[in-house]
Amino acid sequence: MMQGEIAAPAPSRPNAKGNPNASPRSLKVNLVGMTRTELRRELTSRGTPEDKANMRVAQIWQWIYQKGVREFQAMTNLAKDYRKFLHEHFSIEAPSVSRRLVSSDGTRKYLLRIGSGHEIETVYIPDADRGTLCVSSQVGCTLNCSFCYTGTQPLVRNLTAAEIVGQILVARDDLDEWPKPGRHPKNETRLISNIVLMGMGEPLYNFENVRDAMKIAMDNEGISLSKRRITLSTSGVAPMLARTGDEIGCRLAISFHATTDEVRDRLVPINRKWNIKTLLDAIRNYPDLSNSDRVTFEYVMIKDVNDSLEDAYRLVNLIRGIPSKVNLIPFNEWPGAPYERSDPEQIRKFAHVVYKAGYASPVRTPRGEDIMAACGQLKSDTAKQRRSPLQFAESRKLAQAGHPKFSASNRSAAGKAASR
Ligand code: SF4
Repeated sequence: MMQGEIAAPAPSRPNAKGNPNASPRSLKVNLVGMTRTELRRELTSRGTPEDKANMRVAQIWQWIYQKGVREFQAMTNLAKDYRKFLHEHFSIEAPSVSRRLVSSDGTRKYLLRIGSGHEIETVYIPDADRGTLCVSSQVGCTLNCSFCYTGTQPLVRNLTAAEIVGQILVARDDLDEWPKPGRHPKNETRLISNIVLMGMGEPLYNFENVRDAMKIAMDNEGISLSKRRITLSTSGVAPMLARTGDEIGCRLAISFHATTDEVRDRLVPINRKWNIKTLLDAIRNYPDLSNSDRVTFEYVMIKDVNDSLEDAYRLVNLIRGIPSKVNLIPFNEWPGAPYERSDPEQIRKFAHVVYKAGYASPVRTPRGEDIMAACGQLKSDTAKQRRSPLQFAESRKLAQAGHPKFSASNRSAAGKAASR
């Protein structure tokens, strides 16, 4: 176990195949992640009277998303017979925690087990004035951004809406932030005050599930966060920005990272499909942009790749006229990474140019560096640890058979490794 790690409960069995909302315990239907319309349909198709259905949907949502209840028996404003009916047909399930790391700076990183035995990462980042939950939208990613650790992992599948909103439920459990009895959720101090879709995956390649999950996060009878507290980060799926504005309406962050197509093609290969001009045109049309609702341009600072002062001047020329700020992110180095973090002095000079041009240019402090903060690192480290016992058993067999790889000197190295 890592420093700061707390033992997690054993992972649950994978969900039944073919039904993303099927419960692992049986073929009961999981209510987490359903839109109001879907939940209403499920209830009425099993006998809930039409004239009561909307009320039941609101009640069930409040219990699940505002009170953190996972057993129908605890829904005390529903009649006993109705609770029994719900229990017979449905379940309330969120991902289970496989691994949980807590950084010395308070950042919490969760490796969560989801249906079919896959794992995803979710990160909670506390600050003085807010608490941000970074949520994943896919298992792995197809996009291969060359600075991103998750990009080294293959895409396995899109997350369901249940798995996306379930990440919020799990973090609220862990932070013990469910409202205390008798207090309205609006009057509670929210430990998770903001959600950013910046975890594993490209959210706009999983649009419908992300949209449905975020609708629950925004709904007053759901998790009840303002849409201004939800930020969707995209690598630049330009054609989907209009739908994002219309159907979700949350804030937008762009994984920008370069000021020429030549460099952006290398760092964010989706740029070959929708280049800088196409992307910026789509951003300019995003609804309701204003100085209080700005786009965030994420810009990872990589030594001698995108961090020159020419880049800084080009950047402010490109984004001119877009209400925006620029988040400068010192590159988070991971083992085998092809890049180095920019020098602090260079980052300072770059930030100054952007600031002087009229854009906020905060330099993001690296968080959770002691708990493998780079997106995708915890999942990968855990997979390696799980492989290790098998590899050591294989090594021992080869050594006993006198394999040359395990000569006297090599054997002692293998022995040390095995005894760790
Ligand atoms: S930065 Fe985002 S879109 Fe690019 S590879 Fe990483 S997870 Fe995928």
